[in-house]
Amino acid sequence: MNDQIIDAHIHFDWYNEEQQNQIIHDLEANHIEGLISACYNADSAHKLLYLQQQDKRIYPTLGYHPEQDLPSSEEMNRLETILKDKASNIVAIGEVGLPYYMRQKNPSLSYQPYVEVLSYFMDLAIQYSKPIFLHTIFEDAQTACDLLEKHNLSQAHFHWYKGDEKITQRIADNGYMISVTPDCLYEEQIQMIIKKYPLEQMMVETDGPWSFEGPFKGKMTHPKMIHDAVEQISIIKRLPLQEVYTQVYQNTISFYQINQFSQS
Ligand SMILES: [Zn+2]
Repeated sequence: MNDQIIDAHIHFDWYNEEQQNQIIHDLEANHIEGLISACYNADSAHKLLYLQQQDKRIYPTLGYHPEQDLPSSEEMNRLETILKDKASNIVAIGEVGLPYYMRQKNPSLSYQPYVEVLSYFMDLAIQYSKPIFLHTIFEDAQTACDLLEKHNLSQAHFHWYKGDEKITQRIADNGYMISVTPDCLYEEQIQMIIKKYPLEQMMVETDGPWSFEGPFKGKMTHPKMIHDAVEQISIIKRLPLQEVYTQVYQNTISFYQINQFSQS
């Protein structure tokens, strides 16, 4: 069976060196062809570019994670300089989005500046012809949709997507991608999304080292866990496993232009 996978969202630089070596060592045996590595800030971008030099199956992205204090202008300048210098090594703009969990903790958090930062990253995605991937949880996906439509940006990936039916429909209709994590083995809400969302717009990811529950409880999050997610998608959608593997892999390759990327 053709069961290659690509982890569409992992914070590879957050693993310690021993864990990184272990994961790299395991890639081939587990048919993992690539790791789309989410960027947290400028330091993270440098680390990912360094890691890519060690192993070209690591695909760095560039962004500023929204669940932290707003970036300083110095930080934004650093990010822009890296993007300018290393554009051909960077597969996407991300992880960018809106600080949903921070606002849960602090309801008075001012959102507008975060919206402006996100809007700015969308400008960069257009300028550098890169896809964008988003951390926008629940109703924040609505705001992200408004912004994407305003920017006329079609290449968007809603990572670890969680949202209600209405916004899910809008995201699907706009042709945006979502990704699901191994939590689809035990989260009913995610299972409902999988049931309804088109397979042609779906990818799989771990968001590692974030740890999971259910059968993954107490285990280090490893990209091989997404094989279980692929299997779960095939069960929920009642489709042959091979068909799901092939489609999800193709989705990821073409969204992140992996083939073109490795040849360049
Ligand atoms: Zn992430």
